[in-house]
Amino acid sequence: MSNRSIELDDRLYSYLLSASLRETAVQADLRQVTREHRQARMQVSPEQGQFMALLVQLLGARKTLEIGVFTGYRALAVAMALPEDGRMVACDVNEDDCAIARSYWEKANVAHKIDLRIAPALDTLNELIATGESGTFDFSFIDADKSNYDNYYEKSLQLLRPGGLIAVDNTLWYGRVADPDVQDKRTNRIRALNEKVRDDERVTMSLLPVGDGLLLVRKR
Ligand code: CA
Repeated sequence: MSNRSIELDDRLYSYLLSASLRETAVQADLRQVTREHRQARMQVSPEQGQFMALLVQLLGARKTLEIGVFTGYRALAVAMALPEDGRMVACDVNEDDCAIARSYWEKANVAHKIDLRIAPALDTLNELIATGESGTFDFSFIDADKSNYDNYYEKSLQLLRPGGLIAVDNTLWYGRVADPDVQDKRTNRIRALNEKVRDDERVTMSLLPVGDGLLLVRKR
């Protein structure tokens, strides 16, 4: 007997999806197309996308950040959950991936909610701060280059309103964070951020074994 999270074998995972997944045809198509992508493992799991949509609605979010778009599945789920006048600033550097994302946002009629900035995310975040948008965002999802995770965390914290939420993906990093023999730069950056957030008095937080590790952080 263990109190830790249940292990999801293939059968149980299939059950979870069949018992809970609400996915539109456009979302299912995008997921299918992304499965063929050479970096398909960067694809967010559909139940995680659905969970983000739920969080965004719980927050009553109108303004969100998406740091790391890839082919846009999670942004699509979040944008669908935003009110009609909601706005997302989405950051990514890869034009080809963003072209896929944009075409599916258009098919789902949410493209007007998404302000896509194809540039280094740090530049976009600094620009938002410079133009006076600090303290105005409700939600930020961080899922881009791991070497900048700490920067994305700090900038998100600045851009969020009190009570706003940051979600950070890959914080269990395929299990590597727990292996002391793994000492590469990206793994160490993720470890450092996890420890920093645990001790950060500016926030309340929870690290969940969802997907590849989902760190949820609420700004006080
Ligand atoms: Ca990820």
